[in-house]
Amino acid sequence: MEFKNQEVWFVTGAQLLYGGDAVITVNAHSEEIVKGLNEAGTLPIKVVYKGTANSSPEVEKVFKEANNAPECVGIITWMHTFSPAKMWIKGLQNFNKPLLHLHTQFNQEIPWSEIDMDFMNLNQSAHGDREFGHMVSRMRKNRKVVVGHWTDANVQERIAVWMRVSAAWADAQDMVIVRFGDNMNNVAVTDGDRLEAEMRLGYHVDYYAIGDLVAYQDKVTEVEVDALVDEYEQLYIFADNCKKGAKDHSQVREAARIEIALRRFLKDKNAKAFTSNFDDLHGLNQLPGLASQRLMQEGYGFGAEGDWKTAALLRTIWVMSQGLKGGCSFLEDYTYHFKGEKSAILQSHMLEVSPMITSQKPRLEVHPLGIGGKADPARLVFTADPGTGYAATIVDMGNRFRMIVNKVDVLEPEAALPKLPVASALWIPQPNLEIGAAAWIYAGGTHHSAFSYALTNEYFEDYADIAGIELLTIDNNTTICNFKFELKVNEVYYMLNKALQ
Ligand code: MN
Repeated sequence: MEFKNQEVWFVTGAQLLYGGDAVITVNAHSEEIVKGLNEAGTLPIKVVYKGTANSSPEVEKVFKEANNAPECVGIITWMHTFSPAKMWIKGLQNFNKPLLHLHTQFNQEIPWSEIDMDFMNLNQSAHGDREFGHMVSRMRKNRKVVVGHWTDANVQERIAVWMRVSAAWADAQDMVIVRFGDNMNNVAVTDGDRLEAEMRLGYHVDYYAIGDLVAYQDKVTEVEVDALVDEYEQLYIFADNCKKGAKDHSQVREAARIEIALRRFLKDKNAKAFTSNFDDLHGLNQLPGLASQRLMQEGYGFGAEGDWKTAALLRTIWVMSQGLKGGCSFLEDYTYHFKGEKSAILQSHMLEVSPMITSQKPRLEVHPLGIGGKADPARLVFTADPGTGYAATIVDMGNRFRMIVNKVDVLEPEAALPKLPVASALWIPQPNLEIGAAAWIYAGGTHHSAFSYALTNEYFEDYADIAGIELLTIDNNTTICNFKFELKVNEVYYMLNKALQ
């Protein structure tokens, strides 16, 4: 788990107006809240209490420490008493990590028979958190506001989502994406501004010649290939032509050799994601299909045809969803099934679909591939599990990055697909194909997506807020009329926002 060495800091706003005893009580209550949050078993990342902040220098100190602490992925603030918000300005100005404002209160209910003015002055989060909230809004700082009692399971779930997103954000800040070759020639939507991506989203996109990978491939030993093919035999159902002694077994061995080389290469470069390009494979026997499928399962982001934006997004989604039920994969809109309200899209790719999205035991098969001019590649073939998920993409609109997410319902295919030599998922985009696909196309969405069963729109919303990028959500509430309006409003908003920076 990526989360085990990470922390979220908890800072309580107070002041000395009500005397030192009040701050001592606030401090004790804060400790109890943090202890309660950690012991609830619902949060994926440890909360560390950093004490009360009672003045501008104290606020500034803790925010600066958080910026410089690699283990800290974000800060939760809470105002127990009234905390005059000018004291937060300098700290917030410098703070460069995710912020969650927990609008809670120590006591759950009003103690009707005992409440007096002392109690009111000590327990006035309703008041203090509004003062704090004003300052954050006045400074135009994005943050997540979570409202409710800290013992409430719903409140803890909102915090947990933000924690996962914050951890993925931290992960992206030193993400290296290895691109073998360039973008597939002439493709528009997978291209984009890598410089802006590094400034805005944190990750670094590097180019390598495929020859650099070939050099690794040449050092892989036959013993290493034997061991990996043995592992394949444990995990997958081999097609007859792939079994030992059969015609295409040598192609399975070549796929294993490429996988070993690719994993080693990515480790040496400290990379978390990679792209391939079927047109740029000089010195490789076949397109790395099986390798890409298995590396996705290990958490590497992947994008085909040089699609580094989807590769990065898939890695981010994988980090967010660690330990949750439901996998994720790179996918591509391939072909339609028009059938009234049941109209659906068959998602697939030439080879590269992650086995994380199936509970089936994948079949290992070797078939010819019509493009790329290489030998027949190995791949895992399976059908995605039925269920609900989100397809997500990021496109470069020239003046901003736009994230588009579509809630989709994955179906069991109506019949077997005995001649389809690749993994696939059949889904209906919400609210239906007609509106879902039209909205996606109006938004300029890709044919590639990073798909997840585990995440909800809240994850993408938190991510877009932290990154400061546009988010468009397509789901059962979407109408084309409203969606077009949102596109127009966003166009003006981002144009003005850019001009004001
Ligand atoms: Mn593609």
